[in-house]
Amino acid sequence: MKAATKTPRRPKKPTNPTLKDPVGVYCRVRPLSRADQECCIEVINETTVQIHPPEGYRVFRNGEYRETQYSFKEVFGTLGVQKELFDVVAKPLVEDLIRGKNGLLFTYGVTGSGKTHTMTGSPGDGGLLPRCLDMIFNSIGPFQAKRFVFKLDDKNGVDVQSEVDALLERQRRDALPVPKTPSGKRHLDPEFADMINVQEHCKVEEVDEDNVYSVFVSYIEIYNNYIYDLLEEAPFEPIKPKPPQSKMLREDQNHNMYVTGCTEVEVKSTEEAFEVFWRGQKKRRIANTQLNRESSRSHSVFIIKLAQAPLDADGDNVLQEKEQITLSQLSLVDLAGSERTNRTKAEGNRLREAGNINQSLMTLRTCIEVLRENQLYGTNKMVPYRDSKLTHLFKNYFDGEGKVRMIVCVNPKAEDYEESLQVMRFAEMTQEVEVARPVDRPLCGLTPGRRFRNQAFREELARKLEMRGGPLGGETEEQSVAEMLLQNFPPLPSCELLDINDDQTLPKLIEALEQRQKMRQMLSEEFAKNVLAFKTMLQEFDSSVVSKEHYIQGKLSEKEKIIAGQRTELERLEKKIKTLEYKIDILEKTATIYEEDKRNLQQELESKSQKLQRQASDKRRLEARLQGMVAETTMKWEKECERRVAAKQLEMQNKLWVKDEKLKQLKAIVTEPKEKPERPSRERDREKAVQRSLSPPPVPSSSPFAQGGHSQRLASPPQGPRRSNSCSSISVASCVLEWEQKTPSHKQSTSYARTKQEPEPSRGCNSSHRRRGMCWTGVLEVPRHREELEIEEDHCCRNAPPVRLRHRRSRSAGERWVDHKPPSNVPTETVLQPHVPHAITVATASEKALAKCDKYMLTHQELASDGEIETKLIKGDVFKTRGGGQAVQFTDIETLKQESPTGRKRRSSPSQPDPLGEAADSEWTDVETRCSVAVEMRAGSALGPGYEHHAQPKRRKP
Ligand code: ADP
Ligand code: MG
Repeated sequence: MKAATKTPRRPKKPTNPTLKDPVGVYCRVRPLSRADQECCIEVINETTVQIHPPEGYRVFRNGEYRETQYSFKEVFGTLGVQKELFDVVAKPLVEDLIRGKNGLLFTYGVTGSGKTHTMTGSPGDGGLLPRCLDMIFNSIGPFQAKRFVFKLDDKNGVDVQSEVDALLERQRRDALPVPKTPSGKRHLDPEFADMINVQEHCKVEEVDEDNVYSVFVSYIEIYNNYIYDLLEEAPFEPIKPKPPQSKMLREDQNHNMYVTGCTEVEVKSTEEAFEVFWRGQKKRRIANTQLNRESSRSHSVFIIKLAQAPLDADGDNVLQEKEQITLSQLSLVDLAGSERTNRTKAEGNRLREAGNINQSLMTLRTCIEVLRENQLYGTNKMVPYRDSKLTHLFKNYFDGEGKVRMIVCVNPKAEDYEESLQVMRFAEMTQEVEVARPVDRPLCGLTPGRRFRNQAFREELARKLEMRGGPLGGETEEQSVAEMLLQNFPPLPSCELLDINDDQTLPKLIEALEQRQKMRQMLSEEFAKNVLAFKTMLQEFDSSVVSKEHYIQGKLSEKEKIIAGQRTELERLEKKIKTLEYKIDILEKTATIYEEDKRNLQQELESKSQKLQRQASDKRRLEARLQGMVAETTMKWEKECERRVAAKQLEMQNKLWVKDEKLKQLKAIVTEPKEKPERPSRERDREKAVQRSLSPPPVPSSSPFAQGGHSQRLASPPQGPRRSNSCSSISVASCVLEWEQKTPSHKQSTSYARTKQEPEPSRGCNSSHRRRGMCWTGVLEVPRHREELEIEEDHCCRNAPPVRLRHRRSRSAGERWVDHKPPSNVPTETVLQPHVPHAITVATASEKALAKCDKYMLTHQELASDGEIETKLIKGDVFKTRGGGQAVQFTDIETLKQESPTGRKRRSSPSQPDPLGEAADSEWTDVETRCSVAVEMRAGSALGPGYEHHAQPKRRKP
């Protein structure tokens, strides 16, 4: 579809800002219907009504009784008749319309308050609308233009054409097959025919009689913020009638709002106009029924447009100048019920629609409010006309110029009290809004009274022609007289002389000839007279023709000039149209691109926001899960910590107790130095008890430990009492302890012997360890066990189990270690650290890990007697048991220990000949140290200096 070409906009009509009129607000109180009992509105006087809360309401409001008075321009009480209202409210608007000014009249109020009654009326009692139509046609009746002389265009403008063109168009249209032609009363329902039967022949007094007029009507409905054309001829579809198409609003070049593509019917009489209105009304009712609408929820707007243009200088034809045409309009609006939504108990769609309708009334209220505020306080707030179709359509009335009148309809019944209050408040506010007074239409510049002069001239001419007709008639008579004379011409007697004496023939001839001569004279005289008359007439005619010619020539040249001017203007406009069309094309393209962009962006936005929402919900879920996990883990660890603390406490208490015991023994030694060196059996027993309390219950004799002497098996799964991680490591440690105790003499003797004979082996990595793929870093104290064990094997273990041999098998590079590090171990800060390649590090002895490896190493820590942490690496071979489990045979212990270079060297160095002497000088500082030294001394004196261990009863027994 080609875009409508736009004509250049005219600048806004200059309005006179100083001349403003307030919106005229009138109030009409309808009579109380029979069903209603209580009345809450009284008319106080011609301009005031009083409203008071009804009985029930007063009770509801704790007896508060407030009556409010509202003033209006005029109040019409229950006895007010339609005519009275029309005379006061609508008549001035019709007068304005005919004088080329715009007007707006609307009825406002709740449903049932009499808006439609006021606007349309009822049979026999026509409302404002039929009365307005009647008055218009009464006023312009004789001056109406022929149909189609005025032609409305689709841009709210109007054009004019000559009567001949109009006639041609009429014939063309009549030839078309038109489904329905509006004509006269016969189409009207009888009841509504009554409505237009207005007897008072009211008319505007001073109608410009040098103008011709045409009336056009259109009828629209605004429902749910959509505009529907009620006069649109839709093709009849009985099966599935198409829903009506909504229309758009546009602003014309004069800044007036109009409905695009709206049907505008030219009407020539009140009947015809009302018939058109009634057709729209019918359509509205059908649409309401078909689409299940509530009629009280729609606004109906009946627009009367009046086109007028002056007659030409002759007062003969309409002036063919578009600029001279005036188009004015009167909008008669029957607004939807102003009640709030909840009153109608609407639901679903209806509720939404009602909301929209209320929205448009609300927008009207807002617009009025803002206008009022702007006018009262000189602010410049934007009036939200565009927020609803209703206010947008009326924008130019409030924004531009025109007369605006509102009739507030109220039903005095008690039920409507609250709604009526709202209506009154709105009405009162509306009265404060002022609208610019329209300026008078400029005169066309031609002499007034042309129509009458033309009429008089015509009449004169006719009369003259009549007069002229007289002599012309006489002529014919005269002609017949002449003919008669000719016919009565005396015939010539025969002039044949047969007899010489004939004396009668000649005298008869002479007489006839004489008569003829006489008649001839008479005829020539008549002829001369006629010629003279004709000559004078001809002269008269000539003179008149000349004058007419002069006049016509003058007029012709004038017209030619106008035509030339119009032609150039036309050319200019065409050029402008072309450029504008081009611009419009470009703008439309841009607009489509932007719209496309907008759509895309909106889609993108939607998808993004959805994604965001999804992410947010995911995050929330994750957070909740994590919080749960954290709480669970915290609880678990708290429990674990408590448990470990308890275990540690127990262990410490035990250690404390042991130390106490030692102290006691020491005290005994100190206090009884002269006693025999053998300790009393009681003390030994106590010591044993201490030891027992620290170690696990004695291994049954059937265990491999008991059999092998040097080996402790860790059956897997472990047997015996169930313990936690740390406890299990303790139990292993104690087993190892016991195993150590089994070989004291060898160790002592060998180590002692060695220390005596050999220099102390260099500290660092033992060669045998290296062989095993273990690199010891840190201060290594006891790589001696291996040698000791070897010695033991060589010397005394005649019946050592065959598995012991494994201990010596060549170590292939592929052997794997289980590195068992109980979690209770404390990290030491030594430079050198044990490092076992390819080891599986475990916190508890696990069968799984044992199954994969053939070597086992337990890192066990304990507090040495000097207070230092002593780390023992207890090593063993893993072999499979017959039952399918794993067993570990301990083979070796490596002890790692840190010590101070100045302090307790003697305790770790077996080469120290007299550890006590030095230590006694330097370190007899506290009881603890002294005790431990004392124990060592005793042990050392008995067991030899090279080996230090916990006090064990066995050691003291060589
Ligand atoms: P609205 O259009 O405000 O919903 P109507 O005009 O349809 O109300 O009025 C409802 C009823 O009240 C109609 O039957 C009408 O005839 C009646 N009515 C309203 N106003 C008057 C009045 N001033 N005098 C008599 N009857 C009236
Ligand atoms: Mg109504």
